[in-house]
Amino acid sequence: MYERKWAWDSLPREEVNSFSEEYKGFLSEVKTERESVKYILKMAKKEGFENLEDLSKLSPGDRVYMELRGKSIILGIIGKEPRFRVIGSHIDAPRIDLKPLPVYEDSGIAMLKTHYYGGIKKYQWVNIPLAMHGLVVLKSGEKIEVKIGEEDDSPVLLVPDLLPHLAKKQGERKLSDGIKGEELRLIFGNMPYSDSNEKNKKEKDRVKKNVLRILKEEYGIEEEDLISAELEIVPALKARDAGIDKSMVAAYGQDDRVCAFTQLKATLDLNGVFKETIVSCFVDREEIGSDGDTGAKSNFLEYFLEELMDRSAFEEKLNRALINSKAISADVNAAVNPLYKEVHEEQNAAYLGKGVVLTKYTGARGKYLASEAHAEYVGWIRKILDERKIPWQPGLLGKVDEGGGGTIAKYLAKRGMQVIDMGPPVLSMHSPYEITSKADVYSAYLAYKAFFEAENK
Ligand code: MN
Ligand code: MN
Repeated sequence: MYERKWAWDSLPREEVNSFSEEYKGFLSEVKTERESVKYILKMAKKEGFENLEDLSKLSPGDRVYMELRGKSIILGIIGKEPRFRVIGSHIDAPRIDLKPLPVYEDSGIAMLKTHYYGGIKKYQWVNIPLAMHGLVVLKSGEKIEVKIGEEDDSPVLLVPDLLPHLAKKQGERKLSDGIKGEELRLIFGNMPYSDSNEKNKKEKDRVKKNVLRILKEEYGIEEEDLISAELEIVPALKARDAGIDKSMVAAYGQDDRVCAFTQLKATLDLNGVFKETIVSCFVDREEIGSDGDTGAKSNFLEYFLEELMDRSAFEEKLNRALINSKAISADVNAAVNPLYKEVHEEQNAAYLGKGVVLTKYTGARGKYLASEAHAEYVGWIRKILDERKIPWQPGLLGKVDEGGGGTIAKYLAKRGMQVIDMGPPVLSMHSPYEITSKADVYSAYLAYKAFFEAENK
C-alpha cells in the first residue's frame, strides 16, 4: 500500500538546518524579481558563469548566463550533445504595485494609490508592516533605487483597515470583497509642509507637498518621475523559523523563490562536463499568466538557446533540440491545511514535511489550461529520485472543480519539451507570510540536482 513517508526520516537534519539558514537569509534580502536577478547573477559569477554575449566560442563545460532587462535570467552549462535539461522557476511573487500617479492627500493624510499584482486575498494585506522596493527612472535615464521599510529605523507603510467599532457594514460584505482593490491604499505621511512663508500655511494639500519634498530631497524624485517607476509593496517581514520544533520557514515570497533558491543552489553545485546542456531559467510575470516580455511566454528562452547553439559546435535545429529535451517546471504546490481539508482530495494532496511534490498536471475543470506530464516521463523522474533516496510525494492542487491554477509548465511544453511540475508544498500560499517545511525545501534542492545529473555524463 502506498504511503507518504516523512522527508525528515531520510535526510541529514544538520545539513537541512544549515541549508535553511542560508535560505532564510535569501528570503529576507530578496523580495522582488529584480532583486532575485541581482542575487542569482552575483552567485553565478562567483561560480564562474560568464555573459554569453561576451563569448564567441563555447565548448562543453563552459558556464554562461544571459540576463533580460534585469527581470529574468538564464544560466547554462554547455553539454556535449544538442539537447537540454531545463529547470524553470519564477521569481515574481504576488504583491501590491504603485499606480503611475500614486500620491494624493485625504483627511490630512498623504496616501498612495496601488494596483495589486497576482492572486492575493486583499484582506491579508491591511495593517501589516509593508516595505517599498523598486526603482524610479528619470528622463535622463538615471535609475534611482528605492528601498523603504526594511531596516529597523526605516519607516514602514500600512494599508489602514476599518476599526471593528464602525465595521458593521464592512462585516456584511463577502470575504472576497472585505477589502476592495481601491481600498488597498497606503498611508504615506501626516506632516504638513512648512517654511518661513506664513502664507503657505493656508495652502491645500500641505501633507502631500511635504512627502513630495522628502522624495525630492532624499531621492531626487519629482512626482512626475513616479510615472516611469516600478515600486513594489511587499511585507516588511524577515524570514523566521516557524513551530516550536523550528521545522518550518515562514516568509514572504516562497512561491516561487523557494524553487528559485533551491534550483540556483542545485545549478551552482554541479561539477564536471555533462552530456546534455544544463539550462536553468528564472522568469518573471508568472503570477499574472506569464504574459509580457520578461515572462515565460516570451521568446527569451529561444533567443538564449539560439545564441548558445550558434557559439557551440552543435549542428542542430533548435526545434529538434527542444523536442529531445527534458524540463522541470519548478513551482510550489498547496500543502494540506488542517483547518480547510475539505478543499483537498486527501489521497492525492501534498503534505508538509513529506518531500518535494511531483505534480503530474495542474489546470482547472476538465484539465484545462495546463500541460500534463506523460506517464513515461513521470516514471523516469520517479526512478531518478528513488535511486538517490530523495523524499518526494505525488500531489494535485485541490479537489476536482474546487478551483485550480497553472505554472510555466505549459509554456515549456509548448516548446516541445517533456515537462513536469516539481516543487515543495506551501501552506498559506500567496499570503504575506507563507510556510514551508525545511525538509521539503532541502528535498527540492536534492531533486533538482538529481534531475540535472541523472544519466547525464
Ligand atoms: Mn508559483
Ligand atoms: Mn503563485
